[in-house]
Amino acid sequence: MIRAFFPGSFDPIHYGHIDIASRASRLFDEVVIGVYNKPMKNMLFTPEERIAMAKRTFEEEPKIVVQGYNKLTVDFAREINAKVIVRGLRVFSDFEYEFRMALANHRLAQDIEVVALITNEEHTFLSSTTVREIASLGGNISTMVPSYVAEALNQKFAEMNDDRPNVHMTSLRD
Ligand code: ADP
Repeated sequence: MIRAFFPGSFDPIHYGHIDIASRASRLFDEVVIGVYNKPMKNMLFTPEERIAMAKRTFEEEPKIVVQGYNKLTVDFAREINAKVIVRGLRVFSDFEYEFRMALANHRLAQDIEVVALITNEEHTFLSSTTVREIASLGGNISTMVPSYVAEALNQKFAEMNDDRPNVHMTSLRD
């Protein structure tokens, strides 16, 4: 039985993440989606909201489970007995970051392999930052996220009730 761990911020989950998790579930016996809840960057959604949206996304997928975590990724992977960490690759700039992360994780835990899946070409441009930016400006995100995520984004930005844009796109990474 090979359990894979797919960590990320998922702020919010979008079709790029969903595609990677679904494909990983065809390769491994179980995929645990780890919603990191102590990121250094500011999040739009609370950990509970991000976990709830991810859980709803995979409620019909018995091989995919969702958990929050707030420790070193390799430590959590070991705790849940995952032998593989799954990541997704979109553009070349992802590669450098993921390459460094994979080497660091391998230094920390040689018993855990990092497997990177190449994005589906239709999701190449998709990131949580892009989705948040478009939603904050009232754009149509229906092809990028499930309907309940789009509703949560619209509600969040409505609640903010602020004339100034709250989210800025600063880089290709989210
Ligand atoms: P992080 O903030 O740690 O980069 P994210 O929630 O943004 O985490 O993403 C988690 C994982 O999903 C990362 O490996 C990221 O590269 C991958 N990912 C994000 N968007 C896409 C996409 N459109 N296609 C493939 N993989 C993606």
